[in-house]
Amino acid sequence: MTTYSICVLPGDGIGPEVTDCARQVLNTLASGAGPSFTYDTHPAGHGTFLSDGHAMPETSLDAAKAADAVLLGAMDVAQIPPGGGDPLGDMRKGLEVGASIRPSRAIAGVASPSDDIDCVVVREVTEGLYSRIEYQVDADAACAVRVITRAASTKTARLAFEQATARQNAPNPTHIKGRVTAVHKIGVLKLTDGLFLEAAETVARDYPDIEFETRNIDACAMEMVREPEHFDVILATNAFGDILSDIGAGLAAGLGLASSGCIGERWAYFEPVHGTAPDIAGKGVANPCATILSAAMMVRHLGETASADSIEGAVADVLAAGDVRTGDLGGNATSAEMTDAIIAALQARIG
Ligand code: ATP
Repeated sequence: MTTYSICVLPGDGIGPEVTDCARQVLNTLASGAGPSFTYDTHPAGHGTFLSDGHAMPETSLDAAKAADAVLLGAMDVAQIPPGGGDPLGDMRKGLEVGASIRPSRAIAGVASPSDDIDCVVVREVTEGLYSRIEYQVDADAACAVRVITRAASTKTARLAFEQATARQNAPNPTHIKGRVTAVHKIGVLKLTDGLFLEAAETVARDYPDIEFETRNIDACAMEMVREPEHFDVILATNAFGDILSDIGAGLAAGLGLASSGCIGERWAYFEPVHGTAPDIAGKGVANPCATILSAAMMVRHLGETASADSIEGAVADVLAAGDVRTGDLGGNATSAEMTDAIIAALQARIG
């Protein structure tokens, strides 16, 4: 049996509660001859800024680098003042992760605007409109710089094509399309999106079995709503991908079920899409599924495909049965009750 070391950064708000639920689910895998996990928990986030003066201590980043993978809860980054640290930026830079993966899939038993959506947004996360280069021109004007590099665009495109290939080759694919859609606004952003698309086209030549197409961001947003089944893997620059992945989460099962991973060549970290949910923090009622599904992505990334399938299947079983649901899904179960139900479903699957 393989043992993986996981660095856990629980963060703020509901982060510690939902990462604890995910750990319990991960620990269940060992009872079915799956992998086992050791955990190294470290501080990061607004609470850490308040106690330590910096939101991402070096020791936490070092621990993240030393682990096989990293599981994040949620961090209240908006409350951290300038100079107090940029935990997500530090993570992305320190772990050299340049792109995120956010799947959006309708789940049986959960009401959602679309039953047909099953796509993944692969988004560049270090540059673009969020390169954090801004300046004040004068009292009445300010500029943000949209940085696009061939290196980051190429790495993100390669991740998108690898995702499309993996989805096409999955043993029980729910959705075979083998298609990458690159999103742009080339009519306006001629140089930056010109470079981004050129990099994507170059990578596409290495994947002749995957269809490659492009869409304007505005057309893509509308088509995702009207014809979500068209999309398989959406490849996007930072800000466009940020917006499209939330459209995907909204069309699928909502924030309580939306998972994500940030993947680099050497390191990776996984986190729920939702934030710290201060309105329900500490009440034990947060939906743990987004973090449990992020943990499943982590397990898949570690190469434990069968275990990842089992976790995702267990979450789907509980949601389809419908009798144990947290408040965001219209039920009144606690996080612990939802986690216990998922563990029972997982045990039934792995024997
Ligand atoms: P932050 O500033 O950290 O982003 P936020 O409250 O602005 O926090 P979210 O944390 O994403 O943003 O929460 C948005 C809404 O969704 C809140 O009402 C929150 O309670 C709810 N929510 C988010 N995550 C969950 C969850 N896992 N389970 C149940 N409700 C959730």
